[in-house]
Amino acid sequence: MSDYDIAIVGAGIVGTALAAQLASHARVLVLDRRGQAGSTALAPGYVGQLNTLAPLTELAQRSVAAYRAISGAFDDVGGLEVATSPAELDAMEVRAALARSRGLPAEVVSGARARELAPAFVEGVEGGLHFPSDGTADARVITAAYRAAALAAGAVFVDADVSAIEEGVEGEGTQRKEGMERTEGTERKEARKVTLATLAGPFSAHTLVLCTGVWSGDFLPLPAVSVAHMYAYSAARPRRPRSPFVRIPSANVYTRDHGDVDGIGSYDHDPVEVSADAMRTHTCAVGGFDAFHDVLARALRVLPAHTRVGFEGGVTSEGGADEGGERAERAFAEMRRAREEGQACAFNGLFKVTPDGMPLAGRVRKGVYCAVGVWVTHAAGTTGVLADMILEDLGMGEAKDLELRKALDPLRFEGKADAVEVALRTYNDIPRTLRNFMQDAAP
Ligand SMILES: Cc1cc2nc3c(=O)[nH]c(=O)nc-3n(C[C@H](O)[C@H](O)[C@H](O)COP(=O)(O)OP(=O)(O)OC[C@H]3O[C@@H](n4cnc5c(N)ncnc54)[C@H](O)[C@@H]3O)c2cc1C
Repeated sequence: MSDYDIAIVGAGIVGTALAAQLASHARVLVLDRRGQAGSTALAPGYVGQLNTLAPLTELAQRSVAAYRAISGAFDDVGGLEVATSPAELDAMEVRAALARSRGLPAEVVSGARARELAPAFVEGVEGGLHFPSDGTADARVITAAYRAAALAAGAVFVDADVSAIEEGVEGEGTQRKEGMERTEGTERKEARKVTLATLAGPFSAHTLVLCTGVWSGDFLPLPAVSVAHMYAYSAARPRRPRSPFVRIPSANVYTRDHGDVDGIGSYDHDPVEVSADAMRTHTCAVGGFDAFHDVLARALRVLPAHTRVGFEGGVTSEGGADEGGERAERAFAEMRRAREEGQACAFNGLFKVTPDGMPLAGRVRKGVYCAVGVWVTHAAGTTGVLADMILEDLGMGEAKDLELRKALDPLRFEGKADAVEVALRTYNDIPRTLRNFMQDAAP
């Protein structure tokens, strides 16, 4: 018999959220080689629920509902998109109607009101679109809460690096299985066995779920591409009254108040891919910053001067955007030190993009599942859909959310030779804000 019913590899927000939902139903093992070094540790936590892709709106709404139930996890400061032209302001009316039709409050506001809502980040704009039920999520608090919930329900967490996966049948030894074909057999569930090789010894389970974030390429040849993305924190400053996070679609920049510092990120550059081979040298989800100095300088121009000044002279790491190994470790440590000491800093964090901007979450083949390319914004909702699917397959639940399962199916790009290129091109559309909305609406 297998040691566990379900083994989850990866204890970022996705793996822990899934473990919390499965642990009261089955014997769950979670393996992670080094917690708090994945993308979750770096996420600045913007949660905008409206998405032009309806399934993502639904998953974000479910996630926000779940995060609200965790103390200190979700701050409902609201979100504000700003328009810098009359055309953008017109499009905001349509976008506001779309939001309301999906149950999200949304209001188009004047330039003066936008500035009043977020004076540190907004000046000289045409108007804005305010989403009062959006907010910011603390991914570390959420991950810790889900871990605690999973532990309390009996899940076991082990620090271990999974170096190989073998699949087979109980009592017949195991055999390595290559390829991504989905096998629709009629094996009894007790007969399956997945063995995970680690330096802490082998672990076996009936069902395997890979929640390995930017390292998913190690075991899953799926079209989810790791990309580099810059984010910067200002030097520490006195606290201000709360304000919504702000997106400036015309500049592809987003910015927020983190309490005692400000933050800013930018998609205004060509996508920078980090190959699966390069990812093998990364023990944390960061790379060198050299590619991003100009991107940061451009992004800062959108801020009022009194806020911009806080980012000046920030600590950055040297090296190429895809550089891993010791250099990335140093960059990660430097960034954390600068933050602890209240110094301005900027870093290059890594996350996944997929060909249609949606997660790859579901069954890869019998007994093997994944949840990859999942944002903090959608993590609780996505893992809820996946948990129900796994429980149903184990004979412990019913079929639910069939449309969402289809939308998230990790094999939906099978046979599409250009899927990786398409995934990379989605990078600049990730916020799926007004800018993207106007592009979608264009004839
Ligand atoms: C700079 C930046 C800004 C972002 N901004 C936002 C935002 O504003 N809003 C938002 O919603 N999202 C944002 N994201 C995206 C979000 O952070 C990620 O999508 C999310 O955290 C991914 O979670 P995860 O659990 O899938 O991956 P991770 O947190 O990376 O966890 C994967 C885990 O798998 C483990 N692992 C991998 N391979 C193995 C193995 N072989 N053996 C053992 N363990 C293994 C790793 O150690 C890691 O802990 C941002 C990300 C970055 C980097």
